[in-house]
Amino acid sequence: MNIGLLAHDTKKKLIQNFCIAYRGILSKNDLFATGTTGVLIEEVTNLTVHKYLAGPLGGSQQMGAEISSNHMDLVIFLRDPDALKQNEKDLDYILKLCDKHSIPVATNVATAELLIKSLDRGDLEWREMYK
Ligand code: PGA
Repeated sequence: MNIGLLAHDTKKKLIQNFCIAYRGILSKNDLFATGTTGVLIEEVTNLTVHKYLAGPLGGSQQMGAEISSNHMDLVIFLRDPDALKQNEKDLDYILKLCDKHSIPVATNVATAELLIKSLDRGDLEWREMYK
């Protein structure tokens, strides 16, 4: 399965820790991330991450294009609820596309844990048929 990973700056440490904790599950899947998030994940986990441009340079749009083509099976976008309005636009864009294409998406670490465990149990196998 293809997993999209993004995190606002104040949540970068959290997504690193999340990826360390779930490294075993993540390693069985294909990982895609916006530039900075991807580099930071690779640094601490040794996982291979396909990296788009940095979010503000168009990486969020690249991720959005993949979601639009139904390429992402699950998206984790750890957001900072206090982020500046500028950052909120990226989040809105990603959420809108996930909703349009019925792609499971988590915006906080508690939901991210549920989704990743669910993925590991095979609960998202329907995605293969849907694609
Ligand atoms: P980044 O993008 O991983 O390149 O920082 C995410 C974001 O725009 O918050």
